[in-house]
Amino acid sequence: MLGLMMNTPLLISSIAEHGAQFHGGREIVSVTADNPLHRYTYRECVGRAKQLANALNGMGAKKGDRIATLAWNDYRHLEAYYGISGAGYVCHTINPRLFPEQLVFIINHAEDRWIFTDVMFVPLLEAIADMIPNVEGFVVMTDNAHMPETTLNNTVCYEELIAKESLDYTWPELDERTASALCYTSGTTGDPKGVLYDHRSTVLHAMAEIAPDTMSLSSYDSVLPVVPLFHVNAWGVPYSAFMAGAKLVLPGPKMGDGETLCNLLDSEDVTLALGVPTVWLALLQYTESAGKRLDKLQRTIVGGAAVPRSMIEAFRDKHGVEVRQAWGMTETSPLGVANSPKAGLPEMTPDEQLDLASKAGRGVYGCELRIVDGEGNELPWDGEAYGPLQVRGLWICSDYYKLAGAGGAHTDDGWFDTGDVATIDPEGYMAITDRTKDVIKSGGEWISSIELENTIMGHPAVAEAAVIGVAHPKWTERPLLIVIKAEGQDVSGDELLAWYEGKVAKWWIPTDVEFVTELPHTATGKIKKIELRKQFADYQLTG
Ligand code: ADP
Repeated sequence: MLGLMMNTPLLISSIAEHGAQFHGGREIVSVTADNPLHRYTYRECVGRAKQLANALNGMGAKKGDRIATLAWNDYRHLEAYYGISGAGYVCHTINPRLFPEQLVFIINHAEDRWIFTDVMFVPLLEAIADMIPNVEGFVVMTDNAHMPETTLNNTVCYEELIAKESLDYTWPELDERTASALCYTSGTTGDPKGVLYDHRSTVLHAMAEIAPDTMSLSSYDSVLPVVPLFHVNAWGVPYSAFMAGAKLVLPGPKMGDGETLCNLLDSEDVTLALGVPTVWLALLQYTESAGKRLDKLQRTIVGGAAVPRSMIEAFRDKHGVEVRQAWGMTETSPLGVANSPKAGLPEMTPDEQLDLASKAGRGVYGCELRIVDGEGNELPWDGEAYGPLQVRGLWICSDYYKLAGAGGAHTDDGWFDTGDVATIDPEGYMAITDRTKDVIKSGGEWISSIELENTIMGHPAVAEAAVIGVAHPKWTERPLLIVIKAEGQDVSGDELLAWYEGKVAKWWIPTDVEFVTELPHTATGKIKKIELRKQFADYQLTG
C-alpha cells in the first residue's frame, strides 16, 4: 500500500521560488570585474534568472541541452545556475584554470551549445575557438560598456540579452531525476570525467547541508563561499543559502586574496565561510602580518584536502572561530562527512578537541560509508584499521557522463570507490590517511603522507609542506618532506625532522627534507602531488 502524501518533485526552481518568496529582501553581495561591490536581493536575482530562462528559450535551447559557464563567483553566474537548471537545461560549469586541451576535451565531450563567460576568459576561448566548432555562440557576462573586442563568433552581451526579456516565467514541472548540472573531475589521471547532478540529488544535498551538525545555516547567517561556482557547485552553497535565507557574499575573482577576504568577512558581517585549506592559509597569513582579528566570523567549513591541526588551532585560539572539517568530492556533490562534536562524547581537553577536529568528520544522513580491505571485505570501525573508502547514497554519482559503466569506480554491489584510504572510529568519525595514489609504501607498510604533512605544519617555521614517496633500494619508497619556510624564519632539515620525534612512529619520519619557494597547486588549490613526484623522480635520498 502506498502512502497518501503528495509526490511533489524536488526541483531547483523550488529553491529559487522559496528564496524569493520568504527571503526576497535578503542581500547578495558580489565582487565582480566590472563593479567592485555589486549588491541586490534574492528577489532581483530570481527575476533575472527568469529573464535568462526566457532568453534561452528564445535562443532555441532544448530541454537537456548543455549550457556552459566559464566564470568566477558572482551574481550573474548565480543567475545562470538558477536560470539554466531551473528551465530544464544542464548547467555545465567549466574550470577556467584547466589546460587548454582539457577545456577543449570537456566542451566537446559535453557537447555544449552555448558558453556563458566572464570577460577575462574571452582570450582563453579565442585561443581554442577553432577546436570547439560545435559551440553555437558565447554570452559575455557583462554590460554593454564593458563588452570586449573579440574574434569569437556569435557573441552576445549578457545584460543586453536579458534586458529585453519578461520577468514572467513559469518554471517547468520537470521529473526530479532530470539532469541539472555537469562538473568534470580534474582528470589528474586520464581524461576528465563528467559528474551529472540531478534536481533531486541537489535539493536533498542542500537540505542535508543546512542541518545544525553540518553547516548549521540559517537566515541569521551571512555566508561566503570561497569555493568556486565552477567546482562542485561551490559545495552546494548557492542552493543551501537560498533554502535557509542566508545572506550570500560572492568574492568574484578575488578568491585567494587574503586582504580582500578579510575585508569582506568584516564589512559583510560574514558568520560562515567555506574553502580549501590553502585559501585559509592565505587569510591567516594576512591577518597575522596585518595584525587583524576575525571578530565577526563564527565558523568555517574547510575541506577538499586535509586540514592541518595548526590551522584549526589558529582559528580557534587567535580568532575564536570554529573550524568544521568536511570531506567530499565532485562525485559526492560534495558532502560526504562533516565534523562537529556530537552529544555523548566524553569531556575533552582543548588538545583532545583538536584531535577530533583534525578528522574528516562523521557521517551525514544520506551518505553511507564503509572501508574495505584488498579483497573487498569490510574493515572494523576501530579508528586503526585503514583501507579504501567507499560511499553510497542520495547524492553520490551512479556513473560518469557518457562512460556507461567504464569509469571503473563503482563496485558490483553498488558502492562508489572514492580513491581515498581512511579509518573510521567507533563513534563514526572518519579520517583520511591518504589518496590511494599518494600512499607511501615503505617496507611493505603504508605511511600516511597526510599525517606527516599535518604534523610538520604545526612547526612555526613552516608555511606549507608536502610529503611524497621517493624510490628507495631497500624500502621500496621512503618519505621526502618538501617545505616552504614561513616568511622571515630559518630552520634546518634536521630541526624539522626532530619535530616529528614522539609525534609519529619512528620509521615514518621522512628520510630527507628539501626546501622550495613554491609548491604546485591544482586548479582547486590542492597541492599537485603528481607534479611533485615527477619533479623529484630522480631524487637521491641520503638515508
Ligand atoms: P579533484 O581534487 O580531483 O579535483 P575533488 O575536488 O573532487 O577532486 O577532490 C576530492 C578529494 O579531495 C577527495 O577524494 C580527497 O582525497 C580530498 N579531500 C577532500 N576533503 C578532504 C579532507 N577533509 N581530508 C583529506 N582529503 C580530503
